Amino acid sequence: MSLLVVGSVALDSVETPAGKVEDALGGSATYFSAAASLLTGVRMVAVVGEDFPDQHVEMLRSRGIDLEGLEREQGRTFRWSGRYSTDLNQAITLDTQLNVFERFDPKLPAAYKDSDYVFLANIHPALQLKVLEQTPERKFAGADTMNFWIEGERETLEEVFRRVDCATINEAEARDFTGESNLFRAARKIAELGPKYIVIKRGEYGALLWHEGEVFFAPAYPLEEVADPTGAGDTFAGGLFGYLSSRGTHDPDTVRQGIVVGSVAASFNVEDFSLRRLLDVTSDEISNRVKEFVKMICFDANGVILN
Ligand code: AMP
Repeated sequence: MSLLVVGSVALDSVETPAGKVEDALGGSATYFSAAASLLTGVRMVAVVGEDFPDQHVEMLRSRGIDLEGLEREQGRTFRWSGRYSTDLNQAITLDTQLNVFERFDPKLPAAYKDSDYVFLANIHPALQLKVLEQTPERKFAGADTMNFWIEGERETLEEVFRRVDCATINEAEARDFTGESNLFRAARKIAELGPKYIVIKRGEYGALLWHEGEVFFAPAYPLEEVADPTGAGDTFAGGLFGYLSSRGTHDPDTVRQGIVVGSVAASFNVEDFSLRRLLDVTSDEISNRVKEFVKMICFDANGVILN
């Protein structure tokens, strides 16, 4: 099955207790594609400026990511800078410069229009809608967002959620978006807009899946050292959607498996800054961590004695 992502390709400046980087490769579509490309082919729709280093484009291409939909425009590449203090679950945005994204009007290459799986990574919700309009044959669409758009573009974002099958959103954003502090009530409220699957990302506490009132929890892989959480959510989504597209199905059991694959991919990403770790992870390392996950979440239910 074919998988398409639209999102940001960015130069990020990030500071965490473990160190800092400036103008490092980042962006929601970048993390998503790097993770998804471990499992399947992926088509990218995004824009970069004249200052975007060629070496990044070559690296993405060398991973088999289809870049026909990556435009290069006059102006500067999207930039985001953020800081994490001891609470690594919460990024503090210091600056967002939309730059070339301000005028971006995605026109999908003809070859992308038959995409089966479509993921609208974090980007202006109006751009997310434009991509949905151009993928009429899709079988399954997901969307992500962040507080920047929840605060500034709420109505357009609601329209996006009305049209997708799966919403991925982090815990704090789910609370902001719905006004509900309880995550199950928040998930139910988002589901009322339309998506069948709601995935609430909870950083080091894992992810919660809500599907027609049923709940599934996946823990986060336990790491003693986290260098940089940037892109964890996008990497998670890339693992999840890459898995669904590679299986060619999105039934509830496959979505649960995909959530574990996404969590494992994210656990590698946070071990180093930018995409450094994600780019050298092997499929053996991924499958070993998936096996460790099984050990973490299994117990002998028949052996529980309650009298
Ligand atoms: P995550 O940590 O998974 O939420 O995503 C971090 C990535 O999102 C960074 O690489 C940023 O470049 C990108 N990003 C931050 N703010 C925005 C925004 N307003 N729109 C699109 N992408 C963004």
